[in-house]
Amino acid sequence: MLKIANLKASYGKIRAVHEVSLEVGQGELVTLIGANGAGKSTTLKSIVGLVQEREGEIFFKGKNISQIAPHKALDAGIALVPEGRWIFPDITVEENLRLGAFYQSKNKVQELLAEQYALFPILRERRNQKGGTLSGGEQQMLAIGRALMSQPELLLLDEPSLGLAPILVNTVFQLIKQINQRGIAVLLVEQNSTMALGIADRGYVLELGRIVLAGASTELLDNKRVQSAYLGIA
Ligand code: ATP
Repeated sequence: MLKIANLKASYGKIRAVHEVSLEVGQGELVTLIGANGAGKSTTLKSIVGLVQEREGEIFFKGKNISQIAPHKALDAGIALVPEGRWIFPDITVEENLRLGAFYQSKNKVQELLAEQYALFPILRERRNQKGGTLSGGEQQMLAIGRALMSQPELLLLDEPSLGLAPILVNTVFQLIKQINQRGIAVLLVEQNSTMALGIADRGYVLELGRIVLAGASTELLDNKRVQSAYLGIA
């Protein structure tokens, strides 16, 4: 479904991604793990055209999207939930959700809202509250819900567990698994490698802008190098 070949991405003189090739199959849940600054966010942003200086090829459903503009990525069926969530703090939860589907018909928006409220009941309870008054975990759910309002076929998630209390981290990971089980492919960037590999089918390890390891999640969880560098197992 998504195929990235030899991606390179830079910010001026800084090359953040040197060599990334990866694939996400239809309905797959794939994780990209790596240390701070390894280039994980840059890889996700490159897919949706948010990094201007990029080389290499990106295909989505067989179509070359290497030069896609960010607003076209959503139309193509790819939604990014960026790190830090970027919800609108001064409008309500429901208005935030509606923004994810601004080009849909009124009936469709109602249907999509109902779907998100079924998936995230807390958002229904909070629907008239300002986005900025939500807790960190609720804001994360809102950001994911807003992305789902665009009915993506591929969801790109950048560090959804960042800054969440451990109990909420579990909830968010379970929700990601549920979303994937509905048939939406997911590329999940995470520093919480144990949890990410716990729900993913496959994983890639990114070090200093290069993919250094790839395999089934079970293989990576058993890999000594992964265990010592990313799972905190000596
Ligand atoms: P983290 O887990 O800390 O978010 P990451 O693996 O997602 O890290 P990136 O955010 O992709 O890493 O950053 C990769 C490299 O590119 C880092 O060295 C970072 O400082 C640099 N970088 C990222 N964004 C920019 C930018 N807008 N301008 C200049 N350099 C940047």
